[in-house]
Amino acid sequence: MPRVPNDEAGYPDSSPRSPWIAQMLPDGPGRPLTGEAQADVVIVGAGIAGIATAFWVLRDTPKDVVLLERDRVGRGATGRNAGQLTTYFERPLADIAEEFGIEQAADAQRALDGAHDLLDVLVAECAADVRVERFTGHMGMFTLEHLIVHLRNNEVRRHGNLSQETCLVSEEAEFLDDIPPEFATLYSVVPQAHIDELLEVSGAGYRAVLSDRKGCANSGALVQQVLAHLEAAYPERLRYHDETPVERVVVDADAATVQTPGGIVRCGHVVLCTNGFVDHVIVDTGDREIRLAREQRIETVVGYMAAFVEESPRPPTAMSYIRNAVIGGEIPYVYITRRTYDRPDDVVTLTCMGGPGEGDGASWHPDMPFPGPLQWAMDREVLPLAQPERPRGLPYDFLWHGPMGYNDGRTRVVGAHPEHPALLYNLGCNGIGFLPSIFGGRRISQQLSGFDLEPSIFDPRPDDGD
Ligand SMILES: Cc1cc2nc3c(=O)[nH]c(=O)nc-3n(C[C@H](O)[C@H](O)[C@H](O)COP(=O)(O)OP(=O)(O)OC[C@H]3O[C@@H](n4cnc5c(N)ncnc54)[C@H](O)[C@@H]3O)c2cc1C
Repeated sequence: MPRVPNDEAGYPDSSPRSPWIAQMLPDGPGRPLTGEAQADVVIVGAGIAGIATAFWVLRDTPKDVVLLERDRVGRGATGRNAGQLTTYFERPLADIAEEFGIEQAADAQRALDGAHDLLDVLVAECAADVRVERFTGHMGMFTLEHLIVHLRNNEVRRHGNLSQETCLVSEEAEFLDDIPPEFATLYSVVPQAHIDELLEVSGAGYRAVLSDRKGCANSGALVQQVLAHLEAAYPERLRYHDETPVERVVVDADAATVQTPGGIVRCGHVVLCTNGFVDHVIVDTGDREIRLAREQRIETVVGYMAAFVEESPRPPTAMSYIRNAVIGGEIPYVYITRRTYDRPDDVVTLTCMGGPGEGDGASWHPDMPFPGPLQWAMDREVLPLAQPERPRGLPYDFLWHGPMGYNDGRTRVVGAHPEHPALLYNLGCNGIGFLPSIFGGRRISQQLSGFDLEPSIFDPRPDDGD
């Protein structure tokens, strides 16, 4: 029988291993930038944000692109996430509506929902063969406060004529009679057994479920394939340099200079798709640092994941389970993504678990060990929800971590700096960046094409001091 650890010393630290990087092809020799170059657009960062930006700019504008990556393609968060296709904000949509107005909130949600279709365009036009699975995902709630927050979100969706998230409440919910009558048309009452069936748990106290369109894919393998396609399709307009850390960007009124250890690129626009890494300096020609508004400045945190393989096929799904009595509290929600996983010789079911453990990302490094106590926390806090039949104490097939760019506003930053139009951003995932990065890339290409875009919650805002 496997050993079941009973304290935090139960597991040793272990080497991280991402299931997505395990599926990627070798990169071949590095291609660092040397010397001087010119381009219409420099994109910094070859994760899903940078690659999607390159895709839309090359596809929809005549501009040429230099893409610079300090590591190799897809080795940041894009190769180390949960790979879930999801379009919610890490902040209630109704709060966003209060801050920006209901029209902009609904437009933002529509834009993210629409990124499912943009992903399909990206995959089809690049003939990418990564497995993309689509399904309905479910979130478990257990208090009236949870429910009301999400019903208010659904009101914003209704206002914007967007598809509603399905909301089911147990007939055994203690708060059933306290749900305000104005929400009556936004949920249905069902037997508790139905709630348990959707969430695949019983006796865990969940009393309501929110269900929405979800999916999953390997974003690391996807960006590797899209890059190969772009290099083949646009040999005259795309130059890619990896192992090229950008150290300094100097932004002029209508141009920018991007400095790396081996070379310099002068360009009309520079797009930061760095996920918020801050190991480079962005200044104006007077050597003054260029920043965003406080709420938009990115800090990196580290997210941790564990996954196990089951040989038997199981339907793909995504679940999340709120654990705070009040949304936004200290206890992280846990999330589980189950998918079909291709190995060289067979196809299995892979269940990925995340939630516990978040660290300061300033010192994140890809080879940093996965902490033993966190493996223990995954065993104790997430495994019973992910697969109650799996005994605790079994080794995981994959344990990994990755950097996430967060900001206080909990909304992505997409577009040109209002005071420095040559500097653009597509970053700040706030935990959910796969589809939003693809939306962001398209919006950047529209902006570079001179489209008159409506103001948006994603617009960069000027520095407002410390
Ligand atoms: C554990 C975890 C789970 C997640 N789960 C999900 C999920 O289920 N669904 C979802 O939608 N999102 C999820 N995310 C977030 C998602 O992975 C990210 O939003 C997305 O991958 C970010 O893509 P990106 O291109 O912005 O960043 P990255 O993939 O990190 O790419 C940024 C690139 O910029 C490069 N770079 C940075 N600085 C420089 C520089 N100075 N010079 C040159 N290159 C530079 C980096 O090396 C990196 O390759 C998760 C993230 C993590 C870590």
